Amino acid sequence: EASLQKVDSTTNSRDGGGYKGHDMLAPFTAGWQSTDLHPLVVEKSEGIYVYDINGKKYLDSLAGLWCTALGGNEQKLVAAATTQLNKLPFYHSFWNRTTKPSLDLAKELLETFTAAKMAKAFFTNSGSEANDSQVKLVWYYNNALGRPDKKKIIARAKSYHGSTLISASLSGLPALHQKFDLPAPFVLHTDCPHYWRYHLPGETEEEFSTRLANSLESLILKEGPETIAAFIAEPVMGAGGVIPPPATYFEKVQAVVKKYDILFIADEVICAFGRLGTMFGCDKYNIKPDLVSVAKALSSAYMPIGAIMMSPEVSDVIHFQSNKLGTFSHGFTNSGHPVPCAVAIEALKIYKEGNIPEQVKQVAPKFQDGLKAFSNSPIIGEIRGTGLILGTEFTDNKSPNDPFPPEWGIGAYFGAQCEKHGMLVRVAGDNIMMSPPLIITPEEIDELISIYGKALEATEERVNELKSQ
Ligand code: PMP
Repeated sequence: EASLQKVDSTTNSRDGGGYKGHDMLAPFTAGWQSTDLHPLVVEKSEGIYVYDINGKKYLDSLAGLWCTALGGNEQKLVAAATTQLNKLPFYHSFWNRTTKPSLDLAKELLETFTAAKMAKAFFTNSGSEANDSQVKLVWYYNNALGRPDKKKIIARAKSYHGSTLISASLSGLPALHQKFDLPAPFVLHTDCPHYWRYHLPGETEEEFSTRLANSLESLILKEGPETIAAFIAEPVMGAGGVIPPPATYFEKVQAVVKKYDILFIADEVICAFGRLGTMFGCDKYNIKPDLVSVAKALSSAYMPIGAIMMSPEVSDVIHFQSNKLGTFSHGFTNSGHPVPCAVAIEALKIYKEGNIPEQVKQVAPKFQDGLKAFSNSPIIGEIRGTGLILGTEFTDNKSPNDPFPPEWGIGAYFGAQCEKHGMLVRVAGDNIMMSPPLIITPEEIDELISIYGKALEATEERVNELKSQ
C-alpha cells in the first residue's frame, strides 16, 4: 500500500476543488487515498460523459459502476421520476399493501426475461441485497420442502456478488474477505473459469470447461449433495476482471447442478439489459436459471433498485407451503419503492422499444476489435470481453504467471493516464475494466480507443523506465 500510495500521488493530477481530506468514509477506498489525495468530484453528466467540479470532461468508460446504461441525461427517466414523485413519493409493499409502479414493474420484468420462465419478482435496493435475498429465499424454500440441511451455496473464485455479509461471502475476491472475517461458513468456492490463466498446457477451452464441471461435481460429492442448495454465477464475470465463460462451460455446469437438485442463481447485475448484445447474459449463454438477480441498469442507475426473479417451481413452493412456514418475513422499507420502479418501467421500455441489445450488437465489434488490436503490446497479457464489456490485464512476457511487481502500480498508472487524457476506467491491481453506456456511438468508441492508446503508450514507457532502473 505504501508504494501504491507513492504511485498514486505521483500520477494523480486531480484538483478536488477544496475537498481534499474530506469527511466521507468512501466505499472501496483506502483511508490514505481519501485523506492524502484529491477526490474526483463529479458534478454533471451528459450522454456518455461526466464533468468534474472544475468542468473537466471525461468519457465515462465504466458507465458509472457498470450501470448508467442509457447515459447521463435520458429525459424520459427524469420525467418518470418527477411524475411519480409528484403523484406518490412513497408507499411501501409490506403486508400486501403496495403501489402500481411496483406491480407493473414486476410484470414487465418477468415478461422481459425469456431465457427461462420466471413467475415472481421481489424488489431490493441493490445488487448486494438481491443476492442476500436469494440466499434467504433458497433457505426458506428448502425449509418449506423439509430439507433443513440443504443450505450451502457454491460460488466461484474471482466472482463479485456484492459487499453485504452474505453477498461479500459469495464473492470470490480475497480483498472482500480478509479483514472482515468472511466468507461465512455456508459458502463454498469452486474454480474461476478463466481459460487464459488456468488452462493446462494443450488443454482446449472445451476440455477446460469439462475439467471445471468435474471439479464442481467433486466438490458437491465431497460436501454431500443433500447439503448444497444453490450455485451462483455471473454470465460474464465483471469485477473479477471481465472474464467471459470458456466454450461449453455453462452447458456443462448446468448439467451438474441439475443432476444434484441444486438451484442455479444467475447474477445478471452487470450483464442484464443489453450489455452483452442480448437482453440478458442468460440469453447469450443459454442459461436456464431458477433464480435471477438484477440491479444497476434496471433503472440505468437513475434511482437505486435491484430485483430477484424466481421460477414457478420456487415460487410455487413458497406460495403453497407458506401455511407451513408462515409469512415470508423478509423485505426492505424501500422494496418496490414507487419512484425507482417508475424509472425502471421506463428504462425497460427504452431497452425494448429502442432495441438496445441489437444496437450493442452493432457497435460491439468496433469496440472489441478496436481495443483487442492493442493485444500485441508487450505489457498486455490479455484483453478479453464481449459486447460492451472489456478487461485488460497487464502482465510481463504475455504470461499469466509473470505479473509486474505490485509496487510498480502499472494498472494505477494506466488509470491515471486515462484520467489525464479525459477518460475514467476501472482499475483493480493490474486489471483495467470498461463497460461504457450502451448508447455509445461509433465516433465515441473511436475517442475511447484513442485515449486508451495514449494511456497505453505512456504506460509502456513507464514500464521500460522501471525495468531499466
Ligand atoms: N453482483 C454483481 C455481478 C455486481 O457487479 C455487483 C456490483 N458491482 C453486485 C452484485 C452488487 O451490487 P450493488 O453494488 O448494487 O450492491
